[in-house]
Amino acid sequence: MQYDIIIVGGGAVGLATGLKLLNQNPALKVVVIEKETVVANHQTGNNSNVIHSGIYYKPGSLKARNCIHGYNLLVDFCQQNEIPHSICGKVIVATDEHELPLLKNIFDRGQQNGLQNLKMLSASELKEHEPHVAGIAGIHVPQTGIVDYRVVAEKYAELILKKGGEIKLGEKVIDIQLGTSNAVVVTQKASYTGKLIVNCAGLYSDKIAQLTSKNVDLKIIPFRGEYYKLKKEKEYLVKTLIYPVPDPNFPFLGVHFTTMVGGGVECGPNAVLAFKREGYKKSDINLGELGETLAWPGFRKIVSKYWRTGMGEMYRSYSKAAFTKALQKLMPEIKEEDLVAGGAGVRAQACDRTGGLLDDFMILEEKLAINVCNAPSPAATSSLSIGETIAELALKRI
Ligand SMILES: Cc1cc2nc3c(=O)[nH]c(=O)nc-3n(C[C@H](O)[C@H](O)[C@H](O)COP(=O)(O)OP(=O)(O)OC[C@H]3O[C@@H](n4cnc5c(N)ncnc54)[C@H](O)[C@@H]3O)c2cc1C
Repeated sequence: MQYDIIIVGGGAVGLATGLKLLNQNPALKVVVIEKETVVANHQTGNNSNVIHSGIYYKPGSLKARNCIHGYNLLVDFCQQNEIPHSICGKVIVATDEHELPLLKNIFDRGQQNGLQNLKMLSASELKEHEPHVAGIAGIHVPQTGIVDYRVVAEKYAELILKKGGEIKLGEKVIDIQLGTSNAVVVTQKASYTGKLIVNCAGLYSDKIAQLTSKNVDLKIIPFRGEYYKLKKEKEYLVKTLIYPVPDPNFPFLGVHFTTMVGGGVECGPNAVLAFKREGYKKSDINLGELGETLAWPGFRKIVSKYWRTGMGEMYRSYSKAAFTKALQKLMPEIKEEDLVAGGAGVRAQACDRTGGLLDDFMILEEKLAINVCNAPSPAATSSLSIGETIAELALKRI
């Protein structure tokens, strides 16, 4: 089977790329290969479902540019396709003095990134937005929204099919053979020949990248994020989204409260090392994958740098009381019995050999492949923008 472009991975990034390619050149022969029997079954379908505004990211970084452009594309896409979403806004809450300079830094970044109508809030103004929050200062971010990314990805897939693209579900890519001008992608069921491969395999993007290149010196480290839900009768405590001031040394935002587009309030996610790349439960272990993580020199350096934070996250994972305590920093009246177990997602976080957790998106180009090597949050928000970038890179080659 001959294709112009073969996309590996049917999450938000792979599907958005397929859609953008077909929008730009409807004559292209594009196929998306996905190992699960449905699209969006991993990061895209198991995340916080927040439409991020772009406030946190370093001005000029790929994250900052793609988040804000992606935000606009996504909101337009949801409007055009009647996908339920809400631009409800959020507050970022400082709870002690040492967080105030960090809060100011986030505010400045937001302004440098071009966000309009951001507002610094005093403790009493914070209460006007979120009456049950106890902070000493905050930021109101009016742009932030909520959506269901599984629904978004399903719409991307529907449009790909409508435009003549193909999606092969239930086919795991197990090998890639590189020729001089073509590559053959082998799944357990068939082989596909293409002029270019686009790797959007999320938690396995390093593995697929290594099949296309000898220059990939990264490892995906899986970090599980676990959620609780607020009991129905306590949902009144949260009006929109409530975030802490994130630890600037850690690539995750800290446990927060998120209202959901379909109703309900989620609390979380924490960030614990998953013992299996697609390990959604504490008991999920894949000894081969865990051994690879532990043997990676970069991971050992992360442990020596972040062991204290890591232990805290692990403790909160096993102790509901400790998880509740983290939430009580934002909202003291929350009690352990107000929380019921929710779902979990696993983040694909690229780590280099020296122990650097890659903060920015990373796209590596090879002769016959474009590898999306790091697409952590906010890549769901940014998916149409990342897809647009990849489509431009790809179309220059075809
Ligand atoms: C807990 C959590 C909370 C988050 N919150 C947010 C948020 O609120 N807002 C936001 O914008 N982002 C958020 N993110 C990040 C966001 O979910 C991801 O950045 C985004 O979904 C990445 O999309 P993707 O397509 O790259 O990966 P994925 O959605 O993981 O898709 C990759 C696909 O590749 C497939 N695949 C892998 N290997 C193979 C193979 N060998 N053959 C065939 N198919 C293969 C997988 O089955 C999968 O479907 C969050 C992530 C997590 C985990």
